[in-house]
Amino acid sequence: MYIGIVGGGISGLYMSHLLSLKKKHKVTIFESNEWGGDIKHTFINGKCYPVSTLFQMDGDLELGKLISKYNLKTECASSHANHIMCICCAFVTLLLLVIFSPKYRTKSMMMCVIFTVCLTIFVANETCNITLGFGADDTCGGVIKLLPMVLFNLVKNLVQNPTAQQCQIKLLLNCGFSKIIQEMLKNPSVEYVHEAVVNVDRHQYGKIHVKTAKQNVRKFDKIIIACSFHQFSKFIQLSKIEYELFSKIRYFDFFSTLVQYENSKTIPQQAHVKGALLLSQQLDNKTILYASHKSILENVPPCSFKKEFKWTMFDDCIGDELNHGSDSVYFIGKEIAGNGIESCLQLCKKLSDMIQ
Ligand SMILES: Cc1cc2nc3c(=O)[nH]c(=O)nc-3n(C[C@H](O)[C@H](O)[C@H](O)COP(=O)(O)OP(=O)(O)OC[C@H]3O[C@@H](n4cnc5c(N)ncnc54)[C@H](O)[C@@H]3O)c2cc1C
Repeated sequence: MYIGIVGGGISGLYMSHLLSLKKKHKVTIFESNEWGGDIKHTFINGKCYPVSTLFQMDGDLELGKLISKYNLKTECASSHANHIMCICCAFVTLLLLVIFSPKYRTKSMMMCVIFTVCLTIFVANETCNITLGFGADDTCGGVIKLLPMVLFNLVKNLVQNPTAQQCQIKLLLNCGFSKIIQEMLKNPSVEYVHEAVVNVDRHQYGKIHVKTAKQNVRKFDKIIIACSFHQFSKFIQLSKIEYELFSKIRYFDFFSTLVQYENSKTIPQQAHVKGALLLSQQLDNKTILYASHKSILENVPPCSFKKEFKWTMFDDCIGDELNHGSDSVYFIGKEIAGNGIESCLQLCKKLSDMIQ
């Protein structure tokens, strides 16, 4: 089967990787801009720094395998001790609240559960010293979704190797996730086309015609769209249901700012950089990556390097109800899966299992 993928971000590239493992499809992937999409890096004096995606939850097996296969350097952003502390806090609170309100056990149990969840989230956030969600997903909703996975991995890792210093959240060092992208582009079973797709025509009796910016037309049995609604709505005619679903997505601006100070002593406290509301991550002894909802470029104290990157994020994902297998066009990517590499990869895995 000939399969075309539009979009060379992590979703498209991982999908091509999974399909190539089946060894029975011919896979072609198109990218209009830079391979990697949302995963970007830049250089300061020849050294590579990530400017967006930094963290990996230690839950996704495939991603874990890729990280060790490509020999990527990681650092713990959270430790077992933090998580144990956080679980203990939660249970002690629950216990105390139940003990002290025997008369109203049912009602108080509910209150306890809510309180425990809130406290656990709070402690997890505080102790990990990073926000557990990523970018736009920095909400309690995002954290609640991730928490069972954190706890599951904690128990699994503790049972497997109680003395090891493992972590649930890893910070990818050096170029970050860009290294994975570079490695993924070396797959000899995949055809990489660095051209924008300008038209996808799915009404051509059995084949889907894909036209690129250079006016080349390629024919495929299946097409996987791995870019955003505002991008693919320009090159494919959507059904009413598809349009209704995708047009619900709301976008907002988001900034990441890479700053290098003269030395570690001149690094200001996070609070001193106005607008950096979400997160700041120290990448080495003098380099910080800030994440903010507003531009902070004007407010950055004197430094030797500063560069701002503007992103478009979305409020909530829409789910994958369109990928039911009765059509030859499938949709993957962050807007459907949810922000964060792992959700994107999980959706790819699901779709790859569906495509025989
Ligand atoms: C600032 C920031 C920080 C983040 N931090 C983290 C983090 O720490 N951990 C984490 O897990 N996640 C993080 N994320 C989220 C994660 O990076 C994204 O969810 C993920 O990379 C999205 O990948 P994607 O392939 O679905 O989409 P994209 O990366 O957007 O890829 C879509 C690709 O399609 C291409 N394209 C568009 N139109 C066409 C066309 N017509 N023809 C061909 N190609 C086309 C685009 O150029 C793009 O490369 C972060 C995101 C941002 C922006």
